[in-house]
Amino acid sequence: MSNLRDKKFIHEALREGAKALARGDFPVGAVLVINGRVAAKTNNALLSKRTWGDHAETRLLLDRSKTIRQARVKNPKVRIELYTTLEPCLMCLGCAMLHRVDRVIFSCPDPRGGVSHMTRARLPSFYRDNWPSVRGGILKKNAYKMFLRFMSVQHTKQWKENKKLFEAMAAKWRES
Ligand SMILES: [Zn+2]
Repeated sequence: MSNLRDKKFIHEALREGAKALARGDFPVGAVLVINGRVAAKTNNALLSKRTWGDHAETRLLLDRSKTIRQARVKNPKVRIELYTTLEPCLMCLGCAMLHRVDRVIFSCPDPRGGVSHMTRARLPSFYRDNWPSVRGGILKKNAYKMFLRFMSVQHTKQWKENKKLFEAMAAKWRES
């Protein structure tokens, strides 16, 4: 899959993330691409909605659940891709799997909640057979800067700890 194409859609996800940031939310943006076209996009609303589950990727998939299912039923070979500014968590990757997403492409790795490297060997075959392929690190520094901007103005212990984890990760990028 072409790098340029992935970069183009990650740029769109970054623009979605910037909208969340402008609202004071954690800047995760997600873009749903069906057969190479943007079908929908949205961003994270954890803080503005005061929930634990309003991640951009899951919001997007649940909002377009019917569209995705119909597209797959109509054409089993349809290509469904999910672009996001942050490595997906367990819920979002699971939600992508349930929606038969073919590929998940993310920008910045998430040292706290990212599960893209998890071993699937012990999962039931239903999960293994439908697991999307995952590609990460596209324009990761752009997303990282946005996350750091957000975390720098947070005052809770959790966000301060997250910030340390992200900074430690970025320090390793400079070494390599
Ligand atoms: Zn998530």
